[in-house]
Amino acid sequence: MTSGSEWRETRNARSRARLERALPAIFPGQVLHHALSRPLIPPTPRLAVESYWRAHILRADRLARALAARSGEPEGWTWRLGAEKGSGLAATFRMPPSPYREPAHTRGRGHCCICGQPVFRFGWHTDLWGAGVPNKNAAWHSACVTAWKFWVAPSDQVKVLKAHQRHRCSASGKRLFKTAEVDHRVPLYRVWREHRGDPWPMLLGFWGAPNLQVVNRIVHVEKCGEEAGERARLRQGLIPDVEA
Ligand SMILES: [Zn+2]
Repeated sequence: MTSGSEWRETRNARSRARLERALPAIFPGQVLHHALSRPLIPPTPRLAVESYWRAHILRADRLARALAARSGEPEGWTWRLGAEKGSGLAATFRMPPSPYREPAHTRGRGHCCICGQPVFRFGWHTDLWGAGVPNKNAAWHSACVTAWKFWVAPSDQVKVLKAHQRHRCSASGKRLFKTAEVDHRVPLYRVWREHRGDPWPMLLGFWGAPNLQVVNRIVHVEKCGEEAGERARLRQGLIPDVEA
C-alpha cells in the first residue's frame, strides 16, 4: 500500500467516525450514501450535504429554481441594479436578480436569501425532522448556494454541461473539443434589455441550465462577435435600447 492510500484510509476512518457521531437519527439517505462513497469522506453532516450538492449541480440548479417558484416574486418588486452596499442590488445585469436579499423583501432569519423558502437543519430544504419551524441560524439552502455559484460562474462546470449534452456541440452538432466553451443561449445583456419584466422565478432560468449550452470555441467566437456588433449598434442608437 502506498503512503498516499494509507493516509487516506486513516483519514477516512476518522472522518467516518466523526460523521457517524454527529449524525442525527434522521438524515437524507441519498446524502449519507454519497458521503460514504467519496474518495475523501466529509467529516460532518453539513459538509456531507455540501458535497452532495456539489456533485449534483444540475439538480441543485433545478431545485433552487423550483423553490424560488414556490416563493414567487415579492409584491411590488422589480429587477433593478445598484452599486450601493447594503441595497441588496447587484451592480450588473450579469448577476441573477435576488429579491429576497433586498432589505425591503427579505423574509428574515431562517429563510433562504436566494429562493425565499424556509431553511432546515444542515441547510436542507424540507423539514425532515418535523421541527415545524425553520432553523433560525440559517440564511440559505445548501442547494441554493451551489446553484448560485453555478449561475454566476457556469464555465466552472463545463465538464458537467458537456456530459449533459453527450459531448455534442449544441450549435453545430459536432463533437465538442477540449477547448469548448459555455455560452448563454440568450445573452445576459438581452435578458436585461428584453426580459427584465418577466416574473422573477422565470428570470432565474436564464442563469440556469435551460439557458446554458456548451459550444465549440469557433462557434462561440462567431456568436460573441455577432453579439458585440449588436451591442455596438445599440450604443450608436441604431436599435432602440432601454439599457442604461
Ligand atoms: Zn434556497
